[in-house]
Amino acid sequence: MANAVESHDYDIIIVGAGPAGLTAALYAGRSMLNAVVLEAKIPGGQLLNTELVEDYPGFKSILGGDLAKAMLEQATSFGAEIVSTTVNRVRVEPDGTKVAETADAEYRAPAVIITAGGNPRKLGVPGEDEFAGRGVSYCAVCDGAFFKGAELAVIGGGDAAVEEAAFLTRYASRVTLIHRRSEFRTQPVLLAELRANPKVDIITDTVVESITGNGKVSQIQLLNTVSGKKSALDVGGVFIFAGFVPNAQLLDRHVDHDAAGYYKADPLTLMTSVPGVFAAGDVRVQLTRQITTAVGDATTATMAAGKWVEEWRRSHGSDEVAAP
Ligand code: NAP
Repeated sequence: MANAVESHDYDIIIVGAGPAGLTAALYAGRSMLNAVVLEAKIPGGQLLNTELVEDYPGFKSILGGDLAKAMLEQATSFGAEIVSTTVNRVRVEPDGTKVAETADAEYRAPAVIITAGGNPRKLGVPGEDEFAGRGVSYCAVCDGAFFKGAELAVIGGGDAAVEEAAFLTRYASRVTLIHRRSEFRTQPVLLAELRANPKVDIITDTVVESITGNGKVSQIQLLNTVSGKKSALDVGGVFIFAGFVPNAQLLDRHVDHDAAGYYKADPLTLMTSVPGVFAAGDVRVQLTRQITTAVGDATTATMAAGKWVEEWRRSHGSDEVAAP
């Protein structure tokens, strides 16, 4: 016989405790909705991988960790319940109830807001997995200090690659940014700052073919995609910022998404193609993924989810919100 799992009822389940999840928790609490935030790691999301935040209004500059802590404190001060657990699946029952399944419990609610963000995209080249944690990293804030005086390569052409390349110059003797095209996706101001940094070289139209070393990374092999010329670069570490893969596979059914897997959501309510399932922050299709867009999304999604819960309870014959 299968072991019985605990079952908990809420108005709203929030999956993920990054800036979007914590904002959703804040707005749910202020709306007197009984919400639970389910987070597999430490609350804060990508803020915890960010040294300095300089584009969040109200703070000229704030440590990512400090902003995460402040968001968490504010959310919990309005009653947010944060549970440290991994959601394996969200299923939708025939009556529309959403059930977030974890190893030892089920969380049930009429509405769920997915704020699960994403994971770093891998390059998929030989040596990347072999040297993960031994010279290959996806987080400059976490690992940069291990590379004092080293020559480093940073891969990517978006905001993360450019910002983190600049950050790594604090530790590295030299940072080479390698991008596969000649046009960058990053904000021009960030690229201009990086170009002016005397410790940085920028190589474009170039891909990493492999990462090699003996026990730890010592070299990367490169291919210029325009000239076809191959070369090698001696480095002590490779930091990869090739974008994100959204955590958008949790639902037990099809949810409309774009080619890269990001959830599509109604622009007015941020409800996905599954009624009562909302998406906010980096997990959904949008032009850019900023802290500000994540918190804006979460505000919209939570207000819309609150209305959804009201309607749902009316149509299911109960005006009561779930008991905590
Ligand atoms: P991104 O904007 O998607 O950029 C990913 C970069 O990696 C692109 O330049 C892409 O090249 C490259 N890339 C992808 N796959 C590759 C592969 N297999 N080999 C080599 N290069 C590869 O991702 P991101 O920089 O992580 O940023 C994610 C989102 O967060 C963005 O919306 C960004 O604006 C936001 N963000 C904002 C800030 C900030 O505002 N301060 C900081 C960090 C991130 P192509 O250009 O050729 O596709």
